[in-house]
Amino acid sequence: MSALLEVRNLKVHFPLKHGMFSRVRETVKAVDGVSLHLAPGETLGLVGESGCGKTTLGRAIVRLVEPTAGDILLEGDDLLKMSGATLRARRRTFQMIFQDPYGSLNPRMTVEQIIGEALDIHHLVDSAAARRKRVFELLADVGLESAYAQRYPHEFSGGQRQRIGIARALAVEPKLIVCDEPVSALDVSVQAQIINLLADLQQEHGIAYLFIAHDLAVVEHISRRVMVMYLGRVVELAEAKEIIRTPLHPYTQALISAVPEVDPATQRQRIVLPGDVPSPIHPPAGCPFHPRCPIAEARCRTEVPPWREISKDHWTACHLAGAPAAARA
Ligand code: SF4
Repeated sequence: MSALLEVRNLKVHFPLKHGMFSRVRETVKAVDGVSLHLAPGETLGLVGESGCGKTTLGRAIVRLVEPTAGDILLEGDDLLKMSGATLRARRRTFQMIFQDPYGSLNPRMTVEQIIGEALDIHHLVDSAAARRKRVFELLADVGLESAYAQRYPHEFSGGQRQRIGIARALAVEPKLIVCDEPVSALDVSVQAQIINLLADLQQEHGIAYLFIAHDLAVVEHISRRVMVMYLGRVVELAEAKEIIRTPLHPYTQALISAVPEVDPATQRQRIVLPGDVPSPIHPPAGCPFHPRCPIAEARCRTEVPPWREISKDHWTACHLAGAPAAARA
């Protein structure tokens, strides 16, 4: 199947200036050469610790932050070569749902105004009556009563606010939604409801999701494939079940060991990584994971591990992945 979204070697580097008039001395490499593809109607999960660059990657894909280099192809067209009216028109195709639904909803607007604004911007309705009817339909799609249309965001619970954010994203009939930690601020019971809602909407409308989360258990439920990021780079990619059962990269193994309920049959001993994630201003040479890796060897400190397919559709960047256990001793 041809890709809906193809990202090639994307970099997002932020210059750091010291003092008002000084030159750029350092660079934060938030995203450092990420490639991915997403088929129509597919969900790709994107996981990693806070600060690994996953949110910046999501924001760059929807053009909320400017990439430094790379390509973002949506249905074959390069979003980075678009600007002005062309980009605004194309924004209808891709939307974003945010972690903090309250912060992303204008507190001075009613729900009808919030959702209706998206319809107006893209000229999707031609009268006030049609606008109201469409808002009611969208509220029903996300499980909210039409009576809620005249209320303000502060009158809703966190789960209801996330439903409003989803209705706003759906209003423009997107083909891709970047979901940035959409359930991490919600209670566990509400998390399941929102994930089920997103899955139902995907079935109904054929929307593709890039689903960003720090919790592998959440991502596994909704994703066909899962991609793991560390320090601005992708370290592993495989089908969701495969990556949970047979993680190849030591970082993924540590993430999975911290979530025993993911698959009790394959429950492993908890792997506690030493130290913190290094600064993306001065990432370590060689494999960026080597200062924390329990099986690092000499070459890991100098040689960047290549991105390799170890078994069918299971990719990772680790010198020792696929090597016999004896070779790791
Ligand atoms: Fe660990 Fe070396 Fe593999 Fe990096 S390349 S994950 S340091 S074994």
